[in-house]
Amino acid sequence: MKKALIIGTGLGGLTTAMRLTTLGYKVEMVEKYHQPGGRLNQLKKDGFTWDLAPTFFSMSYEFDEFAKSCNLNLPFDFFPLDPLYTVNFAGNPKKFIIYKDIKKLAKEFGGIEPDFEKRMQEYLKKTGTLFHDTENRIIRKNFNTALQFAASLVSVPLKHGPLMLRSMWTEMNKHFTSYEVKVIFSLVAFFLGATPFDTPAVYSMLTYTELVHDGYHNVRGGMYRIVEGLVAELEKRGVKITYNTEIKSYLQNDKGIEAFVDNNGKQWKSDVYVVNADAASFRGEIFGRKAYSPQKLDKKKWTLAPFTMYLGLDSKVNGLEVHNYFLGQNFEEYSSKIFKNKISLDKPYYYVNVPTKANPEFAPEGCETIFILCPVPDLRHKLNWDDSEVLAQNIINDLSDRAGFNINEHLVTKTVLNPLHWESMFNLYRGSGLGLAHDLNQIGYFRPANTDEKFKDVFYVGASTIPGTGLPMAVISSRLVTEQIVKRYGTV
Ligand SMILES: Cc1cc2nc3c(=O)[nH]c(=O)nc-3n(C[C@H](O)[C@H](O)[C@H](O)COP(=O)(O)OP(=O)(O)OC[C@H]3O[C@@H](n4cnc5c(N)ncnc54)[C@H](O)[C@@H]3O)c2cc1C
Repeated sequence: MKKALIIGTGLGGLTTAMRLTTLGYKVEMVEKYHQPGGRLNQLKKDGFTWDLAPTFFSMSYEFDEFAKSCNLNLPFDFFPLDPLYTVNFAGNPKKFIIYKDIKKLAKEFGGIEPDFEKRMQEYLKKTGTLFHDTENRIIRKNFNTALQFAASLVSVPLKHGPLMLRSMWTEMNKHFTSYEVKVIFSLVAFFLGATPFDTPAVYSMLTYTELVHDGYHNVRGGMYRIVEGLVAELEKRGVKITYNTEIKSYLQNDKGIEAFVDNNGKQWKSDVYVVNADAASFRGEIFGRKAYSPQKLDKKKWTLAPFTMYLGLDSKVNGLEVHNYFLGQNFEEYSSKIFKNKISLDKPYYYVNVPTKANPEFAPEGCETIFILCPVPDLRHKLNWDDSEVLAQNIINDLSDRAGFNINEHLVTKTVLNPLHWESMFNLYRGSGLGLAHDLNQIGYFRPANTDEKFKDVFYVGASTIPGTGLPMAVISSRLVTEQIVKRYGTV
């Protein structure tokens, strides 16, 4: 029986483990953190529970495809969100509710965007065509040579060409006039860890995926049910996971990798190795590759870093929904600063999730659990986070004002994670939250490959290899890497 060692238990690692066991491989996993899931993790403290990072996902059919190909009943339940989220602008008492129904959505923008329904239908038609013209040609595919990638790009209808060249914001300006509409429907750029000003307009297809195609989904009982369910299934298939174990180096022989070596000097030997750690920084740090040295990696484009807060309150909060955005009135100026701003943001833009509205069991009775995410510069641009408390308090005060509820008075527990924590918990390069950015020179063939350039027995899965970041992408990534492994070693 062929053995596979998977380094990391993020969603990419767990789904690859499941696919490989389905094909007859004996799988073992090692994980640096004390529990599985990587960024898809959970925090429990003082009687409260929080999903650590992801709070919803798109492209749910990727999970269905995964389950089918693993002969599995998905071990968790998900349901569609509608409305998707709300958006609040500073100084504007109106809370915009983002419905999937375009007629209902049009009512939200009545008076501020003339002909909203017609304009949005046109926008969705264009972005929908783009999505369907690229999904199977670019997103769900392995590229082993530059020629293959070029051939796939050329097969995308020419009419989409201009969208590669202009920014998402420029594209919004072509379709809409109101500040609020343009800002709200370019928030999808932040799901890619960037801003609409530096994200190519091709990604405006994400508006089609959120409003029309498959929308967003939540998991009953919280996002961590995905991990708990998968780990329970993997245990049934005999997969052993060892935690608090970080791979630090490797030994090689004339055939390839002799073993990976962990922080205690233990050697991990296998026939096949799948790296779920960051595909770019692992090549630099563990294999010492010059192309992935810190100098080279720092020149690449990385996604924004997370600044996250986990609050427990002794009371319920009115005025907040499950998913809420709190934005200012200076979107363009703000976006131009957040990548490199060294000082604490006094008027931050942030996302608030109140999981207890959907899962009351996340807090003691009558209490509320709140998760806040504020995208901030990564550690290349802001290394000192001694001011974390200042930023945390700015956000709490701002949210209290805008939600009309004094959070400080009801705060029972508070945990703050800045980019330094995120870097050290999961080895996220410079604390970047979503890994390598998705500029056109960092996707497809140009992204770190899922096969290793030197060792035939080493493969990669996860956010910084193909196709990219986000939960459905991690699931697709596991299919693509499994295809590469089968191509080389076959099924067992
Ligand atoms: C704050 C935040 C919010 C997000 N929100 C969403 C969302 O709402 N929806 C969505 O779809 N996506 C969201 N994402 C993105 C999503 O979490 C990631 O794209 C996805 O979870 C990445 O999975 P992965 O397989 O790449 O692995 P990771 O989650 O990065 O897991 C890799 C694992 O490898 C381990 N590891 C690393 N190095 C080593 C080593 N040397 N030895 C042993 N183990 C190692 C790490 O500890 C980690 O557990 C969010 C991300 C963040 C940070």
